[in-house]
Amino acid sequence: MRLPIVAGNWKLNGSRESVSSLAREITATPVADVEVIVCPVALHLSDVAAVVENTGVKLGAQNASAAESGAYTGEVSSTMLAEYGCTHVIIGHSERRSLFGDTEAACAQRHQAVLAAGLTPIFCVGESLEEREAGTTVDVVGRQLQAAFDLVGSDAFSNAVIAYEPVWAIGTGKTATPEQAQEIHEAIRGMVAANDAEAAQAVRILYGGSVNAGNADELFAKPDIDGGLIGGAALKSADFLAICQAAARQCKTA
Ligand code: PEP
Repeated sequence: MRLPIVAGNWKLNGSRESVSSLAREITATPVADVEVIVCPVALHLSDVAAVVENTGVKLGAQNASAAESGAYTGEVSSTMLAEYGCTHVIIGHSERRSLFGDTEAACAQRHQAVLAAGLTPIFCVGESLEEREAGTTVDVVGRQLQAAFDLVGSDAFSNAVIAYEPVWAIGTGKTATPEQAQEIHEAIRGMVAANDAEAAQAVRILYGGSVNAGNADELFAKPDIDGGLIGGAALKSADFLAICQAAARQCKTA
């Protein structure tokens, strides 16, 4: 059985005070049998780290540089993130890919740097609406994963988490149906299996895209969906905790 993960991507939101109280509310209700991760902006990491320390809730960053150090203005390295207590880093979120020019090769390099620092990448993949309508979802996701395999090798996802996030479902209120999501999650596990059968069984594949307290159970009930990467609903502790509880419930019955 794979321990489910629910990760909250807080994106560019909050103040030092509001993210600390959001973290306090989340840590106040421990949820067993789920790995819970919160990902504030880099500048808020130390405030949130102080709240989640020794609570079981883990800390993630939203991006990391491919470089370890040097003349890379504005970048933050994985080693620096580790110093602040991060265990996870979101890599290749569709907003990074579409708004900030993170190419497939760049995402693979960031992924490699996170692994080299001993942290766990949450590697995001997903298709646009046009790509889905053209029937190319599996090709697109396969290409995104392949960039990491090409650079890192066949064990690229042995110590990583994958998040399938259809771009058309992110922040739109349009969720993939559990069947649509399961179909792609199964295909992703197959792609990992083609490189490393053992890693494919172990890798947690999260679904992301308008997950909320009302639709989490049916998504997490699918056999290849091992939890969620949550955007909007992660900003309200009650909704986020309800999603964590859905993951715990569905994992037990899997
Ligand atoms: C995300 O940005 O990773 C995400 C899944 O956002 P939302 O839950 O708001 O769709």
